[in-house]
Amino acid sequence: MMQAAALYYLFANFYLTEERCCMSKKKYVYFFGGNETEGNRTQKELLGGKGANLAEMTRLGLPVPPGFTISTEACSDFYEDGQTGYWPEGLEEQVKEKLNLLEKTTGKKFGEGEEPLLVSVRSGAAVSMPGMMDTVLNLGLNDNSIESLIKKTENPRFVWDAYRRFIQMFGDVVMEIPHHTFEEALDGVKSRKGVNLDTELSTDDLREVVSEFKKIYDREIGEAFPDSPWDQLRLSIDAVFGSWNNARAIRYRQINDITGLVGTAVNVQTMVFGNMGEDSGTGVCFTRNPANGDNKFYGEYLMNAQGEDVVAGIRTPKPISTLREVNESAYDELMRIRTILEEHYLDMQDIEFTIQEGKLYVLQTRTGKRTVFAELNIAVDMANEGLIDRKTAIMRIPTASFNQLFAPILDKASKKNATLLTTGLSASPGGACGRAVFTADEAEEWTSRGEDVILCRKETSPEDIGGMSVSKGIITSRGGMTSHAAVVARGMGLPCVAGASDLRVDSSSKRITCGETMINEGDLIALDGFTGEVFAGKVDVRSSELLSISSGEGDPSESRLYQNYSILMKWTDEFRRLGVRTNAETVRDTKTAVDFGAEGIGLCRTEHMFFAEERIISFRKLILVAEEVKDFKHLIASAEGDTTSLEKKLAGPLEDYNEALDELLPLQRGDFAAIFRELEGLPCTVRLLDPPLHEFLPKDEEGQLEMSREMGLPVEKIRNTVEKLHEFNPMLGHRGCRLGLIYPEVSDMQVRAIMEAAIEVKQDGYEVLPEIMIPLVGHPEELRIARERAQLVIDGILEESGLEKDYIKYKIGTMIEIPRAALDAARIAEYADFFSFGTNDLTQMACGFSRDDAGAFLEDYVKMGIYEVDPFTSIDVDGVGRFVEIGVEEGRKAKPDLKVGVCGEHGGDPKSIRFFNSVGLDYVSCSPFRVPVAKLAAAQAEIEAAM
Ligand code: PEP
Ligand code: MG
Repeated sequence: MMQAAALYYLFANFYLTEERCCMSKKKYVYFFGGNETEGNRTQKELLGGKGANLAEMTRLGLPVPPGFTISTEACSDFYEDGQTGYWPEGLEEQVKEKLNLLEKTTGKKFGEGEEPLLVSVRSGAAVSMPGMMDTVLNLGLNDNSIESLIKKTENPRFVWDAYRRFIQMFGDVVMEIPHHTFEEALDGVKSRKGVNLDTELSTDDLREVVSEFKKIYDREIGEAFPDSPWDQLRLSIDAVFGSWNNARAIRYRQINDITGLVGTAVNVQTMVFGNMGEDSGTGVCFTRNPANGDNKFYGEYLMNAQGEDVVAGIRTPKPISTLREVNESAYDELMRIRTILEEHYLDMQDIEFTIQEGKLYVLQTRTGKRTVFAELNIAVDMANEGLIDRKTAIMRIPTASFNQLFAPILDKASKKNATLLTTGLSASPGGACGRAVFTADEAEEWTSRGEDVILCRKETSPEDIGGMSVSKGIITSRGGMTSHAAVVARGMGLPCVAGASDLRVDSSSKRITCGETMINEGDLIALDGFTGEVFAGKVDVRSSELLSISSGEGDPSESRLYQNYSILMKWTDEFRRLGVRTNAETVRDTKTAVDFGAEGIGLCRTEHMFFAEERIISFRKLILVAEEVKDFKHLIASAEGDTTSLEKKLAGPLEDYNEALDELLPLQRGDFAAIFRELEGLPCTVRLLDPPLHEFLPKDEEGQLEMSREMGLPVEKIRNTVEKLHEFNPMLGHRGCRLGLIYPEVSDMQVRAIMEAAIEVKQDGYEVLPEIMIPLVGHPEELRIARERAQLVIDGILEESGLEKDYIKYKIGTMIEIPRAALDAARIAEYADFFSFGTNDLTQMACGFSRDDAGAFLEDYVKMGIYEVDPFTSIDVDGVGRFVEIGVEEGRKAKPDLKVGVCGEHGGDPKSIRFFNSVGLDYVSCSPFRVPVAKLAAAQAEIEAAM
């Protein structure tokens, strides 16, 4: 026994030691710089996007200041124990080791010596999260190192300026001392010295600022500003780790649906200075225009400035093209880097650079955020330039924001009559008009009251994210194309005008002043994110460039966007397997959908056609009398003996019934004929009447009185019918095929209308492919009876017209929208030429959620994580999806070539489309405006499936 215990102890100890030793061997820190570079672009998950790309650019031989990256795994291990301030084992040792290597590589000592090594500390997750944690620059400065730096640079003003910036950034970002505390102190020194700009402060003034800042630090934190470079670094790394879970970062991840990341990396990099004088500068550029995708180098810079000056929008930067005049060789070098990076990454890059005393350094490259307009143009252009293939181009287009391409713009004529306030930078495309609000909170508050708002700010900051996301548009008076407002608005697909410097935006008095004009909170203001114009008052908003041209209002040859859009849509046709049809019941919707490339109608809901003024009367007449006819027929059927008197009584109502049907027949026939003509030979699935009849009758007293006046009927008759038809669960009541089975004459009339319209249009020379769809079938018998009856009507019509049986290539099929039907699909398929999944009803019945009432709790269900998304929006793959899978499988078991589609709302949802593609559906059908995104999603699904 003793021996066994001792052995166990030994083993346990051995494994523990092993584990500890393995843990301590975990590599957390990766160096980049010359030949020592350890990471590369493929390691985004581990090194974050920034870290992986810094390593990659170093490998490419680009001028990247050396440094090292602490991995996301270190951040995740930092959180492992749930205690902040705990560094995983081995991390400190590795950071110190790489710091030594950095000292060796640069020939400088960290925060000391003749030429002290200073570093920047930046966060960087695998997915870029702008504003998650601000950068800390100039780290390593202290009372000693500034002396050596002054000696080295012979530029005391620069050094004191760098020092005061460092204390402020460290205090604000790392120690969370409120930003305004430092700003107020700085403003105090400025006003004492009688100057307006920071740049007007002298060396002595800045020295005074430093001393003020240190006092603030002391007061707020309760200890002196840390002099030790190592302490500065350690606290900054802690702060970056901590920032991963700050409220801003969590909100950003929620809004942008970023999940599955383990943490942020930390990049520690040798400082280069853009504020060393007029031969230094800093900037951000895009290899192509991020707003519209033009293949033009695009960006902005500021001389004698540090990075935060450009991004924070404090000074409005200059366009990159003017850099050539300032420093031609740096400009040429930047152009060379543009080409290298774009050809290497094969995508538009967002590059940060700094020029220190004339020499250019690259500090970051990443795939540039862009609007969907830019994405479309860039993807198609790059494929045409041979940089990427068509599949890649298709995969790059985001389905989530694709519909922004069709988002409203400002109406040209209305713009002409409006008061133009000013023109700023066209930071993010689209037009918007709404009430001016001046803070993010107000934006949320006004929107919750149902108002459209435009958020007007001097500049925005990451705290404004919530307010920005509910606004219709953003206007800022400061900042450039890469300011926070511009970057975030583009990401959100919101129209934005940035840097409209003529506007004086005052959030405390809630007012914009522009010359003589004033806009107060709640006043209407409009912006054009394509041109940068800002208008006072109301400007009409109208349909987008793509929609206008699609509907024949514009000239396609003048719209690059339209041309590229058409090319992309053609490419999606090359790769998708799923057909894309539309749900439409009017000629206008049919035309819109066909213009968008719909390949037919997948659902024509005939009941919608009954709601038009003149039809509702005939239809109501039919409903009122149908009940009577049905009752008499029952009586006759069950009567024993002579039924003559009953039949006599039936004669009157029957005549009315037939009269109502006769009135409706030509109206329906006309509707179908018009749609068939518009379709020019594309198939059209027409669904027979689906909703319960009482939906067509007024429920309230007032409506019933009006109906009685209009129809010259006693109101009691109407009231009685409404009461008789009342159902407690109408969605599970007398609807769908049950109507046609109980009132077969109604279905007969509809089938007749479809076939007669088809014959008429065919005789005019068009191909017509009608598909008659029986809704809400749950049992094969229902379909058998309905089909047989429809068949009889069709045969009769063709015979009456002396036409061949196959004159019209029609089909008779069913919707699968009841769980029972999915399970019994093999037997149902015997009577069906096609299936179309009605996933709205299928979701309702499979999940047991009322379509009309579930809104009250589904949002909470999603918040609680019970369902990932509302199952009425995106298919619930594990539940409802199973019914679809079974339905397809069973249906095709009986009929291998059974055509199967979907016409529920999910047919236009990209995520659901991926699922429908995977289970072998033939087509999806969606509302006209979703046809383009459905085509894109179908192509992406197929490309992805083949990968
Ligand atoms: C469905 O149920 O998915 C469907 C398309 O039919 P409706 O929405 O008209 O019930
Ligand atoms: Mg349905």
